[in-house]
Amino acid sequence: MAILGIDLGTTNSLACVWKDGKPELVKNSLGELLTPSVVCLDKEGNLAVGAVAKEQLITDPEDTAASFKRWMGTPKTFTLGGRTFTPPELSALVLEKLRRDAEEALGEPVTEAVISVPAYFNDNQRSATKLAAQLAGLKADRIINEPSAAALAYRLVHGEGDACLIIFDFGGGTLDVSVVECFENVIEITAIAGDNRLGGNDVDEAIARYFCAFNELRPGSLNAEQQAILLRQAEQCKCALSWSNLAVMCLPGPDGSSYTLTLTRDLLFRLCEELFERMKRVLARAIRDSGRNIGEIDHVILVGGSSKLAVLPDFIASLFGKPPLILDDPDTIVARGVGVCAGIKERSGEIRDIVMTDVCPFTLGTSVVNDDKDQNPHMSVMIERNSVLPVSRTDRFYTTRDNQEKIRVDILQGEEYYARDNLKLGEVLITVPPEPAGKQWVKTTFTYDINGVLQVEVENPSTARKKTAYVVNPSLHLSEEELEQKLQELAAIRSQLDQSEEEQLLLATAERIFAESTGRLRKETGRLLDLYRAMLAEGGGPALRHRERKWMKSQLEKLEKYREGEVFDLELPDSWEDDGE
Ligand code: ADP
Ligand code: MG
Repeated sequence: MAILGIDLGTTNSLACVWKDGKPELVKNSLGELLTPSVVCLDKEGNLAVGAVAKEQLITDPEDTAASFKRWMGTPKTFTLGGRTFTPPELSALVLEKLRRDAEEALGEPVTEAVISVPAYFNDNQRSATKLAAQLAGLKADRIINEPSAAALAYRLVHGEGDACLIIFDFGGGTLDVSVVECFENVIEITAIAGDNRLGGNDVDEAIARYFCAFNELRPGSLNAEQQAILLRQAEQCKCALSWSNLAVMCLPGPDGSSYTLTLTRDLLFRLCEELFERMKRVLARAIRDSGRNIGEIDHVILVGGSSKLAVLPDFIASLFGKPPLILDDPDTIVARGVGVCAGIKERSGEIRDIVMTDVCPFTLGTSVVNDDKDQNPHMSVMIERNSVLPVSRTDRFYTTRDNQEKIRVDILQGEEYYARDNLKLGEVLITVPPEPAGKQWVKTTFTYDINGVLQVEVENPSTARKKTAYVVNPSLHLSEEELEQKLQELAAIRSQLDQSEEEQLLLATAERIFAESTGRLRKETGRLLDLYRAMLAEGGGPALRHRERKWMKSQLEKLEKYREGEVFDLELPDSWEDDGE
């Protein structure tokens, strides 16, 4: 039975399956790839989802909901046709439509899905997405980040070599920029930045505003329906410029007259200038946070429907000095990547398992409560926001009272100083032998994986007593076996990420050269060893460590060559040059 890959978008949603060794997009009941993420329940109780509901946004805006993805994980509700809906319920209606249409197209029942979400979605938003799937009759224990999905689709075409990518996802209402590093079978998001008020809608609005100014219409003079029509025309003309040099907008005026505007690419470019400025800032932030410089970016990949904006490639080219990469159809890239992920989940032999590492968008921590009179315990951070996933951290916590018998370790998520201001996910209570304060302690380990399973292990070394809590997203109810399977996957991921053996080999090689050599070579080898040891001690994400390994390896090769009598051209990093030689 096929697993359905779903790009559940703010504006449009798509489905994709893994078939005959490649991702295959699934058409909906109208024969289209894109299903608008819009739901309408009219006063007569008729439900419409997708293209039909999108039409009703104009004719029956009161009973129609769009862009509800923005509100996932929040208490906001929508009232349509006199009934109240939560964002997961509305999303479930979209998912249900995708599921049914896919069943029709594939000719078999679909019960399982992989769904993509923005990289910045927090635990609540991810849980809300899983809940939506459940409500739509879909088991979705795999949630994948949209930029990771796009990188998967990229690798399918461009192979598995090392690459540092910018995924520029420009959708209907949002811009998400991610720096993604790919090497071996790892895909790591190293930085994310975005503007959730910058999307294709803003281009439409800029065009509509110009239309009004050009025709000397006061924006207030149009009624709601005229405004909706104007915006729709603006959108149509914007899209038409992707294949045509000009597009004409026309709105009926009083007494049989009409207002018109001829839109050209030049004009579109000018109307977008302010939006381009904002894009530039988001790009700069993402690149700066990734620790890379602009020259190190191999490709900028345009993703999302608005990436088809006729004037966007020129703008990107002007910033990066090279044109962006456009992989087929930008608005289906994420869905195709999710399809690849579905294939991995089905364990299709054709694709290698890929480790996707993401950054954790929120902080996880604990407050250790030694005493119930302890009124205001503070948050003790275990996993810092923006840590690369999967991640594991260990810390010790001591008793604070004589003869204390229990230590309670709270599991918290959030950024607030006081424990009580953060979201409590669970707790572990452990018994310790009564002894003077500060004698007994617990070793606490937090491990968080890419599927949203947080494992908290608390151990009292003197009794060897150990307790483990698993916090799975609260709305997701896993059976014992599923949890076991997840934990095995987690162990596999951890061992794949732990490339310390290679690092040990590099150190051992350097030590051998040091032992074997004399004079300047020996001195240089010693410095190289110190520097690499310092790099390892500093830690860092898998991508950084991979680069450091590559660098160290090339340095060692040069040392070996020097010993063989070749030219000495060691490339010294800046820190070496300071202390002169
Ligand atoms: P989301 O990820 O928010 O669900 P999409 O990636 O589907 O959104 O993008 C939808 C946006 O793409 C809409 O604003 C639409 O106007 C825009 N769009 C689609 N085709 C084109 C085109 N040819 N030129 C410019 N914008 C386009
Ligand atoms: Mg999208």
